[in-house]
Amino acid sequence: MTDSLLDAVAARRDDLVSLTIDLVRFPTVNPPGEAYRPCAEYLGERLRRRGFVVEYLRGEGTPGDTDRYPRTNVVARIEGRSPGKTVHFNGHIDVVEPGHDWTVDPFAGVVKDGRVYGRGTCDMKGGLAAAIVAAETYIDLNPDFPGAIEISGTVDEESGGFGGVAYLAQKGYFSKPRVDHVIIPEPLNKDRICLGHRGVWWAEIETKGEIAHGSMPFLGDCAVRHMSAVLAAFEAELFPLLDTKRTRMPVVPEGARRSTLNLNSIHGGQTDDFKPGLPSPNVPDSCRLTIDRRFLLEESLEEVKGEVVAILERLKRERQKFDYEIRDVMEVRPIMSERDAPVPTALAQGIRAVFDREPDYVISPGTYDQKHVARIGHIYDCVAYGPGILDLAHRPDEWVGIDDMVQSAQVMAIGLDLLLRGKV
Ligand SMILES: [Zn+2]
Repeated sequence: MTDSLLDAVAARRDDLVSLTIDLVRFPTVNPPGEAYRPCAEYLGERLRRRGFVVEYLRGEGTPGDTDRYPRTNVVARIEGRSPGKTVHFNGHIDVVEPGHDWTVDPFAGVVKDGRVYGRGTCDMKGGLAAAIVAAETYIDLNPDFPGAIEISGTVDEESGGFGGVAYLAQKGYFSKPRVDHVIIPEPLNKDRICLGHRGVWWAEIETKGEIAHGSMPFLGDCAVRHMSAVLAAFEAELFPLLDTKRTRMPVVPEGARRSTLNLNSIHGGQTDDFKPGLPSPNVPDSCRLTIDRRFLLEESLEEVKGEVVAILERLKRERQKFDYEIRDVMEVRPIMSERDAPVPTALAQGIRAVFDREPDYVISPGTYDQKHVARIGHIYDCVAYGPGILDLAHRPDEWVGIDDMVQSAQVMAIGLDLLLRGKV
């Protein structure tokens, strides 16, 4: 079985390439969420012709959903001949904006030197195409397969997944008994299995001041200066503290194997866009800072928040007129699946068969839709596994290797076979 399956997947190389090119040609840029519907319908039409039952689910009322930019997801399911487990392949169809410095058209799907170039090739239309070809090939070779296979193309992963996997999970599409095993072909490299991700806490900190004329700042109270005290305390205390926190999670790249904090944005006082004319000079009465704290299995969210609040509270005691508010923007707890769960076990077998080596087990520095599968759907047998090279995601001249796609499709086909036959 293994050899004939590997050969059959390899024989569909051209189909895999052309499917990837077709997907890249839908400029599904998010935000705003361009071309979601035609891309979802293209996938749905292909899978319908292959015998899947296809549903389109619009994430109505989710962030960004409008008639101009509908959050259209596609879910396709095919039943086997006998009852059994359901394996679900989920890929996000949205891509980030191309940005600058491309040497090829980011939405043409240029094939060159054994690679397909374009925005979303690596992250993650190449992975989704590989999963589709793996499933189709498996079905053709095993028309009597047990259980069921699902493939979904979902939206908005790049902006949190609320109109995509989170929406579907709320509707029961990522829960038992409908689904047992989930594979997300995100670009984590073809011989690595990604067991989960670090946690995230985004928060907005606002310091307060008092407005006054800019020529007499002593009459007011400058919120930006208060924020500079916050930043100074972060530099002196928080960043050094985070640097000391290491994790047993195998996060890649290795620099992310500890706690990190990014200062995403800071805004205080009047606009700095002087084009419409000079604004009047004021002492700012508000300054807002958005922080992005990534945390580890070894840390609790309460502890993570407590470190920041302790600094703000101390400033409030020590610094005249210092006042602040803090608002949570996003919270995601860290996730790490067990290595010996069925999905990682099945994919590890596939990696051994295709590459004749043991897989590496990794953790992603940032989150992806696995969080919704686990938190809302309560499916914990879920990993990310796909052909793209992680470092190329979101970069100019993004590409996916054609050999990598073929090989990862082989791994997924073997994994699918083992999971459906209950051999893991
Ligand atoms: Zn992605």
